[in-house]
Amino acid sequence: MRIDVITIFPDYLAPLREALLGKAIERERIAVGVHDLRDWTHDVHRAVDDSPYGGGPGMVMKPDVWGEALDGVCGAADSAAPVPRLIVPTPAGRPFDQRTAIRWSAEPWLVFACGRYEGIDQRVIDDAATRMPVEEVSIGDYVLVGGEVAALVMIEAVARLLPGVLGNPLSAEQDSFSDGLLEGPCYTRPEVWRGRAVPDVLRSGNHAAIDRWRRDQALARTYQRRPDLLAELPEGTLNKADRAQ
Ligand code: SAM
Repeated sequence: MRIDVITIFPDYLAPLREALLGKAIERERIAVGVHDLRDWTHDVHRAVDDSPYGGGPGMVMKPDVWGEALDGVCGAADSAAPVPRLIVPTPAGRPFDQRTAIRWSAEPWLVFACGRYEGIDQRVIDDAATRMPVEEVSIGDYVLVGGEVAALVMIEAVARLLPGVLGNPLSAEQDSFSDGLLEGPCYTRPEVWRGRAVPDVLRSGNHAAIDRWRRDQALARTYQRRPDLLAELPEGTLNKADRAQ
């Protein structure tokens, strides 16, 4: 997969080169390009923003600069070359979730357009949507100062699903949300720590009992913390033993 990020703060994306993602780049599982939006400015101040039409506080990112940047990174309107899926992080977007991450993990090329100030002139997004798939996406119901952290969150969620990125692919399959539930608690050595013992069943060697315990813990945790997820489970997902919980 190829991932490009356009931002006025390229250094913000430095964590992409760390840890698991850094290794995935080294192993050429993903190719990442980080682009400075100001490279597409033509004035001495390298301005990327201007005051909003209609008045109000804050500044809006200029369409001319963003338009040229997207042409440069994604390909110009008259090109017959393949186009990426353009992701525009915004608190006013549709919620990003694990399903979105799974869907995007099948894409060959993602481009993230990181806004700042009050956001990007809407015509940039509307114009891009005439020649490539575009999604305006929020990572949660709060407002950040820029799209860079949101892009990092989404890139990490997508990249860990790509083949060969996680050491053990089974861990992604057993994570929270994979079966519609939150994952239950996990434990490692020592057996007793500060007077707290690991649950007996996990040391029993009885795999059926361990699976049942894990499932019960996942159900209880989801019920307590995210009852909305239980309501969304497809009909027939819960068996008799689950319902006895
Ligand atoms: N005026 C915008 C609004 O109220 O919807 C908020 C703009 S915010 C201060 C600046 C930038 O931060 C946005 O353009 C977007 O790139 C990013 N951003 C802020 N909160 C976000 C969120 N919850 N999810 C994704 N991106 C976010």
